[in-house]
Amino acid sequence: MTTHLVLNPATAQPVTEVRLTTLDEADAAIERAHDAFPAWRAVAPGERAMLLRHFATVVDDHIEELAELEVRNAGHTWGNARWEAGNVRDCLNYYSAAPERMFGRQIPVAGGVDLTFHEPLGVVGVIVPWNFPMPIAGWGFAPALAAGNCVVLKPAELTPLTAIRLGELALEAGLPEGVLTVLPGKGSVVGERFVTHPLVRKVCFTGSTEVGKKIMAGCADQVKRVTLELGGKSANVVFADADLKAAAATAPYAVFDNAGQDCCARSRILVERTAYDEFLSLLEPAVIGLRVLDPTDEASEMGPLISAQQRASVLGYLDDAKVAFAGSAPGGDGFWVPPTVVLSDDPAERVWREEVFGPVVAVMPFDDEADAVALANDTEYGLSGSIYTRDLGRGLRVARAVEAGNLSVNSHSSVRYWTPFGGYKQSGLGRELGPDAPNAFTEEKNVFIAH
Ligand code: NAP
Ligand code: MG
Repeated sequence: MTTHLVLNPATAQPVTEVRLTTLDEADAAIERAHDAFPAWRAVAPGERAMLLRHFATVVDDHIEELAELEVRNAGHTWGNARWEAGNVRDCLNYYSAAPERMFGRQIPVAGGVDLTFHEPLGVVGVIVPWNFPMPIAGWGFAPALAAGNCVVLKPAELTPLTAIRLGELALEAGLPEGVLTVLPGKGSVVGERFVTHPLVRKVCFTGSTEVGKKIMAGCADQVKRVTLELGGKSANVVFADADLKAAAATAPYAVFDNAGQDCCARSRILVERTAYDEFLSLLEPAVIGLRVLDPTDEASEMGPLISAQQRASVLGYLDDAKVAFAGSAPGGDGFWVPPTVVLSDDPAERVWREEVFGPVVAVMPFDDEADAVALANDTEYGLSGSIYTRDLGRGLRVARAVEAGNLSVNSHSSVRYWTPFGGYKQSGLGRELGPDAPNAFTEEKNVFIAH
């Protein structure tokens, strides 16, 4: 098969057909990126900065177009899709300040001068999943380009449209040919080639833990640099002293945003036993009130799942789960699942342990702080989490005790482009975003000059 039929997940109707990059074409693109590298790394810092800022401006001029593509291709709500396109612009603007700031160090030594340099790696391969096609692409390419690398980027087969458009906008903004190349295609062909091709010096992968492990093992063969952003099973810990109304009102958005297809989804809610009944009674109207509508409707707060396969996988978790209550969802041929709350009393349950990646949240009571921390950490994942309490000392203590990369207290925020993002344990390896991201796309070189 040389093409992929892109479907609108809200209706299951075809949107367009996309040609898949072949292995030979992937090789040729990697070689072109390698050829473009010497000139790109030699672009003066101020000029590279200007090109990235120009790219950001061109993206900004196309926010509505990009958002519309994502609404149709990924079933994202308008609000999310506009935010996502804006996030690409913001990442480009933020990292456009990096080229002039790739500071080295001068380290005191006897008999000479010691200097360090951050040298770009060369060609970087970015592999993107279908859940957040635009932001995850930008988190990879913006800092990588700023540090002087060339990027080859493979979008998910299911959601290639915004990435293809971003590749065109990069050229329109004046980035030289070969500096950012978008290669729609199969993971097993194009993605795998990023791992095996010796000219690709780093792989930046976001997706399932299962594929992430294979990528890490494959990269070992060439000691290739790798960053992994994988799955999650994050806990939302609600203490009895919390503002329970606020905790219950925000909890649905922390897990059902993007129909739960979010590696940071707070898909386990832990509630202190003394507040358990009250919290559930506040949670129910918040879940029922969620506006699950066709995402072309501006009022929609939650859209469909990405595919029939994902829908089947999510529904499989509900077979043996104890459903407390569920919201509504449109009928029709789209890949809809209503937001669903299940009650868990055994941490061994599949719905409590596994990343559902759909609009399903499991709720469990806990007895005290130590119990809450132990339950939150009883997972091989460690990406994010939230703590609701009016006791800020406890908020900070629990945030420090939870083995995860991104915690928020009395909030569910986890991703800001200017703060570091990444996972503990099997949720990932390395960090993206934040002030240090460009350094992750460099080698630190040490040079000693004798007096
Ligand atoms: P996936 O298989 O890990 O896909 C992620 C990306 O990796 C896609 O671009 C995929 O290409 C590519 N890929 C697949 N196999 C590859 C290989 N052998 N070598 C190189 N690249 C490869 O994820 P999925 O199958 O779409 O989703 C399955 C589950 O993963 C979800 O249900 C969810 O639990 C988890 N997931 C997590 C995240 C996250 O943000 N952490 C994101 C997405 C999915 P193709 O599109 O061609 O397969
Ligand atoms: Mg897969």
